[in-house]
Amino acid sequence: MIRFGPSGNSESFYEQGNKSSVQMPKWLKNIGLNAYEYQCSKGVKISEEMSVQLGRSAAENGIFLSIHAPYYINMASEEKEKRDNSIRYILETLQAAKWMNAGRIVVHTGSCSKVSREWALKTAVEVLKEVIEQADAMGFGNIAICPEVLGKINQLGTLEEILEMCKTDERLIPTVDFGHLHARGMGCLNSVPDFEKVIAQIENSIGSDRLNRLHCHFSRIEFTSGGEKKHCSMRDTQFGPEFEQLAEVIYRKGLEPVIICESREFMAEDALLMKNIYDKVAGGM
Ligand SMILES: [Zn+2]
Repeated sequence: MIRFGPSGNSESFYEQGNKSSVQMPKWLKNIGLNAYEYQCSKGVKISEEMSVQLGRSAAENGIFLSIHAPYYINMASEEKEKRDNSIRYILETLQAAKWMNAGRIVVHTGSCSKVSREWALKTAVEVLKEVIEQADAMGFGNIAICPEVLGKINQLGTLEEILEMCKTDERLIPTVDFGHLHARGMGCLNSVPDFEKVIAQIENSIGSDRLNRLHCHFSRIEFTSGGEKKHCSMRDTQFGPEFEQLAEVIYRKGLEPVIICESREFMAEDALLMKNIYDKVAGGM
């Protein structure tokens, strides 16, 4: 099943009087969505009790849960202490995922503004191996870790780098943020063949099984020569990429990804727009 949902909570969720993320699964089901990415981007602060409640509500409402790990993770830091802390933050995110019964966590890999790309990649792979070893020992082995394609040029996380990392272990599933790819490539995604190329690259690199279960982020994006500037909403039509082009490729190849919308403020509304676009593409082909 293909899944659509928001990253975090829309403005409208709060405007309608909701207060806690525990209320999100039911709210999402009511508007017709079936995935939710819980944000721990500023730190893993959620309690065990709330995690369990959120997980229970997600199961009752048929919502696929993932968690976004803290933004400040840097697996490619020159400082060992920062790399060790990054391992700890990832394990904390996995612990919350375990409580929630979430299937995936999304992880930013780090920066290569102070080190070479080669060193950064090699170091991040070593850190990931350490994470996996510890995750197994702690009983988190069934949760997929999803390193993300990042949007700024000086971040570790080109599609090639993320795929290279994912070759380390079968349970690593790439998070392909198409907005970030578009920003990194100075607006490179403009047609169905452009998206087909990306999908083929993933398949050739890590095979069709993980391609089928891909984790995707999608939103329109504004960029500069440094890459990502900011995520925009579907109504900001002056910025790409166009979801319809990706929808066509997903449908034709019969993929079943989880698609998380990271639009500003309107992430749930835009996730629904994307679902509708997909349904229209699927109905018309
Ligand atoms: Zn992210």
